[in-house]
Amino acid sequence: MDTSNFLTSLFGNYYNHSFVKIKPPSNMSSREFGFMFFRHGAVIRHLGFENDDQLRTFLIREVPSDVFYSAAYYNQPSMPKMPMKGWEGCDLIFDIDADHIETSCKDKHDRWKCQVCGEFGKGGKPENCPKCGKSKFEEVNWLCDICLEAAKLEAIKLVEDFLFPDFGIHKKEITVCFSGHRGYHIHVESDIVKEINSQARREIIDYIKGNGINPEFHGLQEVGRERLIIGPATDGKGWSGRIARYVIKFISELDENQVQREDKSLRKKLLTLVKEKQKVVTNLSRHPPLWDTMRNIDINLWHLIAERAINMAKGEIDEPVTSDIRRLIRLPTSLNGKTGFEVKPLKLNELAEFDPFSESQVFQGQLTIHIIDVPTFRIGEEIFGPYTDEKVELPLAAAVFLLCKGVAKMV
Ligand SMILES: [Zn+2]
Ligand SMILES: [Zn+2]
Repeated sequence: MDTSNFLTSLFGNYYNHSFVKIKPPSNMSSREFGFMFFRHGAVIRHLGFENDDQLRTFLIREVPSDVFYSAAYYNQPSMPKMPMKGWEGCDLIFDIDADHIETSCKDKHDRWKCQVCGEFGKGGKPENCPKCGKSKFEEVNWLCDICLEAAKLEAIKLVEDFLFPDFGIHKKEITVCFSGHRGYHIHVESDIVKEINSQARREIIDYIKGNGINPEFHGLQEVGRERLIIGPATDGKGWSGRIARYVIKFISELDENQVQREDKSLRKKLLTLVKEKQKVVTNLSRHPPLWDTMRNIDINLWHLIAERAINMAKGEIDEPVTSDIRRLIRLPTSLNGKTGFEVKPLKLNELAEFDPFSESQVFQGQLTIHIIDVPTFRIGEEIFGPYTDEKVELPLAAAVFLLCKGVAKMV
């Protein structure tokens, strides 16, 4: 059987039998919908549905591989041109994707192939093909526990460090969901948020990403004739408290190996800091904090440490998803055609313990497939692979995952 026909019939069964599970978005008649299909690559958009039943009927009849809806609300969502739709507002959406987070596992499990000469390799794609010099690549970005755990921690940080304390967003206004692939989506729905224009959303992004944050404006400076160094306290509001807390975190985690990777001119000073870190951390945690705590940490070194701290504290969000007020986003409870995993809505208190490789699996049974080339992966409690050019019988969820990723074929 052809792979796309097989996946279409499986997804069709899912939509048919999970009738009650599919949760359409709020105000669905004001939303634009878009879909992708296994049989052809194009996105079909500018569709609208009046009610839940219409959407479900469509899902069962047409069986899309991927289901999207607009974060925006429109007067006439199904008009074919954007300006004709009548934009009325937009939810605030954040996308956290492992693609944008540095993780050590990528060199092991990501692969690229030159579309011109067929050269291939592991890790992220090179700038130019080492064999033919061209720069057209196919990439297989894999997903593993390390990537998805990193993305999850970023999602928790975004909600707990930024959206709650700094933006005053209420728990009830937030929906978190696993994207079904390499990350998490956070939806904020409220009347105030709806009206925010694209430029203001870009300012929200700048704030969360710490763009242009200057520690001096948050209190880290020299004062008086004595040039005493003062700085923010850990319970300060917004970035000032965040800088203080993450400077403490940076110093607590600093060790000799890390110092060796720093610029030569800094090593000596940082090594003394490593030796005295307990004292420094205690002094910085006091109320008020004591920043002028070591003779050889001058204000310039403090600023450099604060920069590192800002880098640790910032939120890793994908900018276009938040700033684009006409973008389509995956529908929670639908399936992700890149993996066959459920786009799983989560309660905030479930997020920390959530296991995407178990809890977003929906298919049961066994299937034999021909695997081209895959690294080790986990589904449920079981670890599979690596496999190269072989026929393997796998639990259906694992087989569907490989078929969707395009690294296996039906036999
Ligand atoms: Zn090449
Ligand atoms: Zn990984």
